Amino acid sequence: MAIIVNSSVDSREHQYVNVVFPSALRREFSYRIDCDAGQVLQPGQRVIVTLRGKPTVAFISAVGVQPPDQIRIQTVTELVDSQPVIPVDMFQFLKRLAAYYLAPLGKVLAAAIPREYQLQQKRMLAPNPEGNPDQVPAPYRELYAAIRKAEAVLLSKIRRSFSRDLCNAAIPALKRLALIEESVDFARPKPGGTFIRYAELNPDHPAAATQIEALQKRAPRQWEIMQKLQQLSAGLQISGRRDISRSAVEALLKRGWIRIREADVTTARLWSDFAQRRKTVTLTDEQKEAYEAIAVSIRNAKYNAYLLQGVTGSGKTEVYIRLIHTALEIGKTAIILVPEITLTTHLASRFRGEFQEKITIWHSQLSPAQRSHIWNGIRNGDSQIVIGARSALFLPLPSLGLIIVDEEQDSSFKQRGNEPRYHARDAALLRAQCSQATVVLGSATPSLESVYNAATQKIERLQLHRRYSEAPHPQIHLVDMKKEWQKASSIDNPLSELLTTKIREKLDRREQILLLLNRRGYSNFLLCGDCGYVPSCPNCDISFTYHKKTNRLLCHYCNTESIPPAQCPRCGNNRFLFPGYGTQRIESQVSELFPDAEIRRLDMDMVQKRGYLPTVMRQFGEGEIDILLGTQMIAKGLDFPNITLVGILNADIGLFMPDFRARERVFHLLYQVAGRTGRGKEQGQVIVQTFNPDDLTIRLALQQNLSKFTNTELSERNPLNYPPFSRMALILISDLKQSRAREAAQSVYTFLRRRHKQIQILGPSEAPIARIKNRFRFLLILKSRKDHDPNGSQLRHLLRALLQSRLYESLHKNVRISIDIDPLDMI
Ligand code: ADP
Ligand code: ZN
Repeated sequence: MAIIVNSSVDSREHQYVNVVFPSALRREFSYRIDCDAGQVLQPGQRVIVTLRGKPTVAFISAVGVQPPDQIRIQTVTELVDSQPVIPVDMFQFLKRLAAYYLAPLGKVLAAAIPREYQLQQKRMLAPNPEGNPDQVPAPYRELYAAIRKAEAVLLSKIRRSFSRDLCNAAIPALKRLALIEESVDFARPKPGGTFIRYAELNPDHPAAATQIEALQKRAPRQWEIMQKLQQLSAGLQISGRRDISRSAVEALLKRGWIRIREADVTTARLWSDFAQRRKTVTLTDEQKEAYEAIAVSIRNAKYNAYLLQGVTGSGKTEVYIRLIHTALEIGKTAIILVPEITLTTHLASRFRGEFQEKITIWHSQLSPAQRSHIWNGIRNGDSQIVIGARSALFLPLPSLGLIIVDEEQDSSFKQRGNEPRYHARDAALLRAQCSQATVVLGSATPSLESVYNAATQKIERLQLHRRYSEAPHPQIHLVDMKKEWQKASSIDNPLSELLTTKIREKLDRREQILLLLNRRGYSNFLLCGDCGYVPSCPNCDISFTYHKKTNRLLCHYCNTESIPPAQCPRCGNNRFLFPGYGTQRIESQVSELFPDAEIRRLDMDMVQKRGYLPTVMRQFGEGEIDILLGTQMIAKGLDFPNITLVGILNADIGLFMPDFRARERVFHLLYQVAGRTGRGKEQGQVIVQTFNPDDLTIRLALQQNLSKFTNTELSERNPLNYPPFSRMALILISDLKQSRAREAAQSVYTFLRRRHKQIQILGPSEAPIARIKNRFRFLLILKSRKDHDPNGSQLRHLLRALLQSRLYESLHKNVRISIDIDPLDMI
């Protein structure tokens, strides 16, 4: 795959390469490259080339290509990476990933390089030494002087200093008069600071207790720091913390009571403080059997995939650990993907305890400096194992032998938004195929896709039936919210009587409480407050979305419209609810009910605030928080022994999301939550509030009857061609103008329909969230049955035809069109 440039009489040689750009441009372009003899050329290396007259960064996508004859070919300006940044097997993987998800290869390659390593394009303005300043038109003099003074200045800086109108007029005019020149420069990454600062007590100059006391009134912030330091043996992190006053730290330094220590970011501090020392473990027979089967595959260095299905506490993690040892023994490396890594610090520290500095961590909350440090460490072979969020799959581990995807059913493995919109579980299989590695998908509640793949022998299923230690199962109470609502004075109260009483009880005993709001994205549906009935589409078996403005029920799969019933068709009453509780609203209601309790909210909005999550986790761990209120993201991974009560406020909401996976998600959520409590000595309690206590999904989850749920669900999906029986693709078309978006969606539909008769195409219909940021949104859903189209090639072929069509070319100049393969959200 790589080419080493031949030596010859002339020490410069030329070659032809194809390149791709990290943009929406999907085409490859050919360039000539001149380089020194002996230079390695390999796909994935970056070059600077001229594209449409501008220097641009690109990735080599193919080497040793035949020179295209007819056109004049340009020469690569610069080879950026003399050594390939992307290993060969990674490049293969990324190429297949791009093809599978129909994402531009350049964008996918760019996603595999940390931002700190990407070249930043800088546009510079410089005075032309030959220009005559007297020719500068009067209104542009000041701007010209600013450029001249600096000799060369960033265009963006000039744009910041002068008005937009002036810049737009003056810069082209000055260029025309040959008074200034524009050039493009690419900034290389700076080696980032890789140290974190800690404050610790200065043992050489300890402060007397009375001196510290004295601070409390005069300098409370200094006092606070001293208090904290006396409790923390490992020191107090001060880098990147807004809750610690810098001036207070400075003052304490002056007093000489504290000192500053700098630690490498990859040392133990990235890990939670309690990296556990390992106990010796002898695998049980059941565990050993699973281990042996997978270990053979690792030793053979061949691609194989396994589904390791075992109830919580059955020792899956112990099997993972043993498998990683096996990989290391034969010089291989390993990746462990976990959902919401920031929440699974407990799990991470277990691995850290086992593998010490051989393992490193990867997630979205790392600082840029930490990222580049870790990335380098992996490339250099300092770390052989990484545990991380989905993007850890893009780390360049050499000789990869094993990929573990823990909780493979988790929807956070799917990348939404930016391309490539991959699912890390599926992408892990691709990467392993390219690296001849073994994949283990672990779960207590496997996704139906994996169950199906096991049934069709694409992956091999291994099961662990027994929990290692019989921990007491939590007590589960089901509260019928219909009855609750009939007796409550206000239907607005999100807490049932039972839950309210229990919360008070736990608060009095200083135990901790988890309140879970089952809310995914948006949920606007109609719910009968008397019988729990939710109107749904007769064609799609999907609940209708209620549109308040037009007072209509709409199926966003097939666009069927209906008028809200005046009476409930099931019970005849007419007390409909719109159960759209938000976390924020509930937070304020709960704090009104329990004014003395410390409550924190954890949902997507809050977690995006940097530093919020670790702080809340620490406070919760230290018992400073009584009630943690959040969306399903808090359901997994939390492992605090003091949680003795879990309340699920609205089990129904997820159930009636207009999404065919709604029941599966609710099942997984309830099944897992039940395992979250009672980790300590106390038996845990779970209170599930629902308007549908007789619902089959809810009942099966609480009975922990996985196989029955799986069978029921599969038999419902099959006749409707839903995954796992089909492959889906979602086309989202949006525009500021509603009519334009609708027409574009219609024309895309017509295009697809004409070309292919077997693939089912639903829509176009208005998206459940019909407008985001003023853009009107329309959806098309494509379903291609696996019996006819086993590897999805027909579906991709059709979509590729769309992407290469004239229609797409003309449409995408105006409207936004995005394609999501195997979508998880259809909102
Ligand atoms: P899972 O990952 O399936 O939830 P774990 O691996 O966390 O299960 O196992 C649950 C607990 O049981 C852990 O504390 C683990 O160390 C312990 N455990 C599991 N298997 C063994 C074993 N063979 N010997 C000793 N302890 C075990
Ligand atoms: Zn429908």
